[in-house]
Amino acid sequence: MVLPLTYFGNPILRQKGEPVLEITPELEQFIKDMFETMEKYRGIGLASQQVGRPIQLTVIDIRPVEDRPSTLELDGEEADPHSIMPLVLLNPEIEPLAAEVSGPEGCLSFPEIYGDVSRPEKIRVKALNERNEPVEFVCGGLLARCVQHETDHLHGILFTDRMDRDTKAELRDELDVLQKATKAILAEAAEADSDQ
Ligand code: ZN
Repeated sequence: MVLPLTYFGNPILRQKGEPVLEITPELEQFIKDMFETMEKYRGIGLASQQVGRPIQLTVIDIRPVEDRPSTLELDGEEADPHSIMPLVLLNPEIEPLAAEVSGPEGCLSFPEIYGDVSRPEKIRVKALNERNEPVEFVCGGLLARCVQHETDHLHGILFTDRMDRDTKAELRDELDVLQKATKAILAEAAEADSDQ
């Protein structure tokens, strides 16, 4: 089932996710729904906050993007980044391993809004997977950027928070319009609820 997305201005995007402690059948279905939603909107990463649920769960699949390379190391050996796709990360923890690089990012919660963000080029990731097994890998390039963007979501941090002042100033009007539209829709929905 494709889930409704939450957009900038929705307070749920600012909520820190609760750690996931148990994989229930309901959660397994939710993970499937997240992948379906991400594919429908052509994203390469989706955090649970973006579909209205503040827990520490993200799904990632970078395979649709062919022009931005990624690197992967498993147990110290170079590996094909596609070999771990699609990726489910629960309670991810990140350790930076290289200097920051600037690169373009977008976000399904910010339709048509893009901007450069600086992030460490290479990171170590520790998390649990969808079978509740610990996973650990080192990644670089697009995959590292994507994991960091999604892990930020799980802590209520948005990519606009990490943009430099000039980039954010350029996007200010678009961000204001989106935020106001989201708040108006939420207010309308709340009013409709209270009328019942
Ligand atoms: Zn995002």
